[in-house]
Parts: sequence; C-alpha cells; structure tokens
Amino acid sequence: MEPKKTEAIILRTRDFGESDCIVTVFSSLCGTLKGLAKGARRSSKRFVNSLNIFSHVNLEFRDRRSGDLVWLDSCELIDGFPGIRADYALLLRASYVAELTETLFPINVPSNEMFQLLGWALGAISDGRDLEKTMIVFQARAVSIGGFSINTSKCGLCGRAYKGEGRALFHPSSGSIVCMACEKESALTPGIGPNAVHVLTQLQSHDLPAPDSLDCDKEMLTELSTVLAAHIEHHIGKRLRSAHYLT
Ligand SMILES: [Zn+2]
Repeated sequence: MEPKKTEAIILRTRDFGESDCIVTVFSSLCGTLKGLAKGARRSSKRFVNSLNIFSHVNLEFRDRRSGDLVWLDSCELIDGFPGIRADYALLLRASYVAELTETLFPINVPSNEMFQLLGWALGAISDGRDLEKTMIVFQARAVSIGGFSINTSKCGLCGRAYKGEGRALFHPSSGSIVCMACEKESALTPGIGPNAVHVLTQLQSHDLPAPDSLDCDKEMLTELSTVLAAHIEHHIGKRLRSAHYLT
C-alpha cells in the first residue's frame, strides 16, 4: 500500500502490546482515523514528541488490506498547543471539541472544513482567550458543517416567518426556533432574543469569524450556549461525556 500524508489532530492514544500505541486522530484527508503506531513507546524517531493528545501533526500512514485500522508510519509535530495541558479548564473544553468532532465525523466521514475548525478551536482554547465565544463559534460552525443547522428563518411548528423582531423559543425536536404563540418558554424550550438569533444565523452561514468580532453581551452568550447545547444533545441523542464538565 502506498503511504499517504495528511495533517491531523491527535484525539486519543492508548497503549497496545509492549511497545505499540493505538492512536485516534482527526485528519484533514479522511476525517477520523485509527492507526497502529509500531514501536511508538520506545524511543522511536518516527513518533518523537508528537503523540500527545490534541497535538497538531503531519502524519504518514498506509491503509491495511482489511479493517478500519491503518498503519501509522511517522508523525511530526506542527503545534502541541501547550496551553491546553497547563490548565484543567482548558483541557475540559478541548476534550469537548474533540469528542464532538469524533461524534459528528466518525471513521470514513471526511471533512476538511471540520478539520480546520477543530484546529482553530484548539488554538483559541490553548491561548485561553474569549473562551465562551470560542465554544459558541465552534458549536455553531460544527452543527452547520455537520448538516444540522438550527432553522432561524421561521417557526418550526406553524411556519410563520421570523422577521428578526421579538423573542423566540428554541424547540429541540424540530431543530428550529418557534414562535411564542406555539410554545411557552421553559427549560425544554429556552428563550432566545432577536440579537442572539441574528448572531446564530451569521455563525451558521458564514466562514469562521474571529470570536472577538462577535458583538455579544452576557445574556446573548448564555442564550446561545443554552440553545446550542440543547440542539447538539438532541441531535446526537446523548449528552457528550465532556459536556458534563462545561456547566
Ligand atoms: Zn409558531
């Protein structure tokens, strides 16, 4: 099998046998990959300092004749995002973005756009700036790339167009905002103001914005993070393990 090259982010490693590792990465070329790194736990030059979780690397690998596991030939560090490992709160957020990426894009579901988003989010988390905004941008872009954007154009129950005025509600089972005539605000159908709806629409439909360019007050951030968490949890049918630590 011909070797292939790709950039990748290390999502997880576990020891295998006496000196090998099984490494799960998210790659720009083929999405989630699981590979066997032979001899990685010996002082192997092919993997030196490059298999730490969340590291951004250049990877060389070969497909095997059968099964999902690939052979990892070598791995070279591009950026280790050292800030993440120095702070537990940052580590939890990085765990969440990695877990959501792998859940939305399992093995054999490639997305270079998702790879770029993951790398951007880990860089922003490692720098520790605008964390709340970073997580909102990541979640909104991830649902958009994953093909399950929140409908913000009309009520998901009666179909009435939303004109960007007045408070709306988020309705998880229809993945949509709904109007106040159709539902009442509750923990299950959280409220969202017109400014937050506008920001969400922008985030879902445009390329990655800089988090510091997001004009959000505290209330909008709370609304957006509540709505996105409810939407993601409903769509994937479970709460991510790492999501428990974010609230
Ligand atoms: Zn309605």
